[in-house]
Amino acid sequence: MTEAERRLALESIAAEVRDCTRCRLHETRTKAVPGEGDPSTEVVLVGEGPGFNEDREGRPFIGRAGDLLVKLLASLGWRRSDVFITNVVKCRPPENRDPLPDEIAACSSYLTRQLEILDPAVVVTLGRFSMARFLPGAKISQVHGTIRPADPETGARNALVLAMYHPAAALRTQAIERESFDDIAGLPGVLVASRNRRGEAAVTESPMPSAVRSVESADIDQLTLF
Ligand code: URA
Ligand code: SF4
Repeated sequence: MTEAERRLALESIAAEVRDCTRCRLHETRTKAVPGEGDPSTEVVLVGEGPGFNEDREGRPFIGRAGDLLVKLLASLGWRRSDVFITNVVKCRPPENRDPLPDEIAACSSYLTRQLEILDPAVVVTLGRFSMARFLPGAKISQVHGTIRPADPETGARNALVLAMYHPAAALRTQAIERESFDDIAGLPGVLVASRNRRGEAAVTESPMPSAVRSVESADIDQLTLF
């Protein structure tokens, strides 16, 4: 798929999500939050569900947890626009309660389809509910900072999964905040390792997620030059 095709396919899912009434969360939402980011990224971050601010704006991770997420990415020299950020459920659970199993199930195909389109090299799970989807049965205190291959059934055909604590947990507990900075420090290495597994080593050894896209656009610039 070209970048334009991916953008269009993601926008079509986002339009479905904005009108979705598949579970009760549509009754109490202000705006659904489909997710956003670079359609050509190699790295997808998956959170739990929108909170108060996200529900008002229709954008993921824009409140305090989002500010910390931006800091975590900045510790790598990455920006939020370098990655794609979405959630397990696309509408805010009332009072920020945990999403219920039937709500997660109802929303599941949107995330699967997003991952099929993005075909990421790395999926970063943020918190328990996202972890449970990619690493069933795992305990966050044991698996945070570790890597597993993704089950292709999740939509991520050929990805490594890096499990992290939810940034909201890091806001509550300093030790978890420190561990989160340690865990994300492994992400550039996971990206390079995943490219190698995918046979993309020749593309670039750069630990930046936009590197492949820059190579593509450099090619396009050359085409238009000559
Ligand atoms: N927490 C989440 O899990 N997702 C968001 O989008 C915001 C806060
Ligand atoms: Fe639809 Fe998901 Fe929102 Fe439920 S949470 S209404 S399934 S988009």
